[in-house]
Amino acid sequence: MASAACGSKAADSIAAVSCAFDLAHYRELLEAALAGGYRFAFFDRDPQPGDLLLRHDVDLSPAAALDLAEAEHELGAAATYFLMTESVFYNLASPEGEGTMARLRELGHRVGLHAVWPRAKLDDRFDPVLAWHNPEPSYISEPVAGAANVMEPRFFSPETYRSDSNQHWRSGCPHEDLAAGRFEWLQLLTHPEIWVHPGDTMGETMLAMLDAERERRLQQLAADNIDLS
Ligand SMILES: [Zn+2]
Ligand SMILES: [Zn+2]
Repeated sequence: MASAACGSKAADSIAAVSCAFDLAHYRELLEAALAGGYRFAFFDRDPQPGDLLLRHDVDLSPAAALDLAEAEHELGAAATYFLMTESVFYNLASPEGEGTMARLRELGHRVGLHAVWPRAKLDDRFDPVLAWHNPEPSYISEPVAGAANVMEPRFFSPETYRSDSNQHWRSGCPHEDLAAGRFEWLQLLTHPEIWVHPGDTMGETMLAMLDAERERRLQQLAADNIDLS
């Protein structure tokens, strides 16, 4: 009866949990990690037993990143947000981009570069850590000069990594294994847009994001003195 996304033996013991990709279940994931005794860690040292490395690749929406960041802060969680300098969807040099970085740091999170191969230009806005956007196998786990690469072998093994790629957990939602302390340590990659905007599929979630985006764009136009009458 458990959905594929939630599939695991103990599913009936947490029957109330739907494993939805929404903020409520993201909070449950964090609570599960706390119940399992995990501590929040960063990519500034080799992972230790009990570490939970929360990683967010911000592909589309700094606003969604901030919503997730506030929720984490409320639960005492800290994460590393990877932001792009070459995004089609947002401008890190805009007031919104700069404000996002400042607020993330204020909330106790770290900021790394979500880089586009082969450019790994980390300026002083970033901690020395990088995650490649849409990486190819040929370089995904190669060391990077002057920065930690989140997919280099010390940070990655199939047993200690989970990702919500395109709104799908390849190995099941990790909340039960976190609550039971079954991971020695874990790198948990989640994309804020997926959790902040509603939708049962990635397609629906993206359409919901675009609806929200339209409102935001209208406000930006008004702020830019565009006559919308
Ligand atoms: Zn779950
Ligand atoms: Zn990406």
